[in-house]
Amino acid sequence: MLWKNYALSGSRITHRLHKLPRKSSFSKKFFTTSCLLTAGVVGSYLSYRYSSHRGNKYELSPSYFVKYKISHKQDIDSSHFLVEVTPLIKQKVNIWSLMTAENLWSVEVKQPEVMVVRSYTPLPLSFNPASREIEILKDGDNAGGKLSFYIKKYENGEVARWLYHLPKGHVIEIRGPFVDYEFPHLPNELKRSRECLYMNNCNEKDYIDKEDSKFVYQPYDIMMFTAGTGIVTALQLLLTESPFRGNMKLFHTNENVKQLGPLYPILLRLQASKRVQLQIFETDRQTKQEILKNIQKLITKPSPYKGLLPFSNVTDEDFKPVLALVCGPESYISSISGRKYDLNQGPVRGLLSKKGWDSDNVYKLS
Ligand SMILES: Cc1cc2nc3c(=O)[nH]c(=O)nc-3n(C[C@H](O)[C@H](O)[C@H](O)COP(=O)(O)OP(=O)(O)OC[C@H]3O[C@@H](n4cnc5c(N)ncnc54)[C@H](O)[C@@H]3O)c2cc1C
Repeated sequence: MLWKNYALSGSRITHRLHKLPRKSSFSKKFFTTSCLLTAGVVGSYLSYRYSSHRGNKYELSPSYFVKYKISHKQDIDSSHFLVEVTPLIKQKVNIWSLMTAENLWSVEVKQPEVMVVRSYTPLPLSFNPASREIEILKDGDNAGGKLSFYIKKYENGEVARWLYHLPKGHVIEIRGPFVDYEFPHLPNELKRSRECLYMNNCNEKDYIDKEDSKFVYQPYDIMMFTAGTGIVTALQLLLTESPFRGNMKLFHTNENVKQLGPLYPILLRLQASKRVQLQIFETDRQTKQEILKNIQKLITKPSPYKGLLPFSNVTDEDFKPVLALVCGPESYISSISGRKYDLNQGPVRGLLSKKGWDSDNVYKLS
């Protein structure tokens, strides 16, 4: 059966009948390495899953649906909520250590009554019933395969509204992972713990093998432009196992920070530990035009991506972005980077093109 996900305007929606891996061509070198090597990683994951669990359809897979129950739901405001789902059978594969920050990925949730699926971007968060806090998963812990989502419900929307009204314990079906963007694979890169990168709290075990070297490869910097629930793409990269290791300038726009709920303190902590340079814009305080003007002032020119360079201990304080990722409602994507035509990226226009960015270094996510 074909589960439909159709395109409508005004939200993060795209046709996903054909699952094309989404990639930027921000460097032909980057693209080729990333394409071959990431395909290898995802391929080995799939072959691992199939060989070790042949005939068992319990591990998350893009080719069939797996059952999860709603284990926690939390209202943020009248249109945003967090939902945590737990697989009925514990997942053996730690998807976070497998995907790392080399892949931006999503899953599809099935709405069985109207026979549609919608994509959602998991975050490595789990609800601690004792403290009643949302916590970031620890390295090596996949919490049995729990996934958490930050979701906006649209008044007349089909799936998010349905999800919102499901009671705790209700069983839903999910398939994935689907890779939405691939970064270059860094062979033999030293692993960095989340704690090291998230809290800037690195210790000796984070520098196994090479005491005088922080990384094998030189990290590169990126800019991310997100609006509304688009923030999940940046958070996935920053919170997954082996998180994004370069500097990220994150421009996020929403009505107000309250809409981010427990994600806001996480963002502030990432900013405090210099994992991200955060610029938040609230449409409750400024008009969209004013916000765009302010964003324009802060956009820097692109830097060339030079491929996988050996790590240099000489710290360069300058922020040199080689890639801009844009994720939000259609109108937002249009203003920042020109219109995206469903699966087609469309030409780069908007604020980014005025600063010299083009289709080699800009990627629009739905
Ligand atoms: C890769 C990817 C990852 C995503 N990750 C997330 C995520 O983590 N969190 C998240 O919240 N969203 C995410 N999305 C968006 C998500 O997939 C859904 O598009 C979103 O939840 C809306 O789906 P819906 O079924 O609730 O609404 P839909 O039924 O698709 O409706 C959406 C909007 O269209 C309007 N509408 C409905 N019917 C019509 C009509 N006939 N004519 C005109 N307008 C209409 C509705 O009022 C509403 O405003 C992601 C999308 C992609 C592609």
